[in-house]
Amino acid sequence: MPIERILFTEEQVNARIKEVAAEISAKFQGRELKLVGVLKGSVFFLTALARAIDIPVKIDFLAISSFGGDTPGMVRIAKDLDDPIQDEDVLLVEDIVDTGLTTRYLLQTLAGRSPRSIAICTLLDRTVRRIVPVPVDFRCFEIPDRFVVGCGLDYKQLYRNLGYIAVMNPDRG
Ligand code: 5GP
Repeated sequence: MPIERILFTEEQVNARIKEVAAEISAKFQGRELKLVGVLKGSVFFLTALARAIDIPVKIDFLAISSFGGDTPGMVRIAKDLDDPIQDEDVLLVEDIVDTGLTTRYLLQTLAGRSPRSIAICTLLDRTVRRIVPVPVDFRCFEIPDRFVVGCGLDYKQLYRNLGYIAVMNPDRG
């Protein structure tokens, strides 16, 4: 398997998700939260997070597709949310914020639907590659400038189901 090294073990990931879930529960205490996940990468993170949050949560998903080839940020919504988010506290749950272009697009799109509030939670944050500023409210891990897989993140649709986060080297295929 083209795994170069493990960045965060399954135990570290699970422990950190619990810590961040506690932060989120404290911040939104007494309210209901709508978790909005981006298919497919954030599914594993969102479900683990949702289980560890101890306030009432609803979940909904959207999917994006890219139309600019390898140009980052050229995305559109391919599958929209099932329900409106008007007057709801929304937490956009991302697998990774890299250049920030996808997250910014989603933030602007969702903000236009009049939620009561909107915040961002990401499993991984790679600030070193940021092109546009994104207000990340909750994050589990900052990572170096290497391609990673696991915990929902794929390479050619594989490795999403790994419980750990690993740096990948396709040459080791
Ligand atoms: P952006 O550059 O717009 O912040 O991130 C766009 C998308 O690129 C992410 O949601 C994720 O799907 C993908 N991506 C960015 N970095 C990585 C990485 O290291 N590994 C994997 N598997 N996907 C990544």
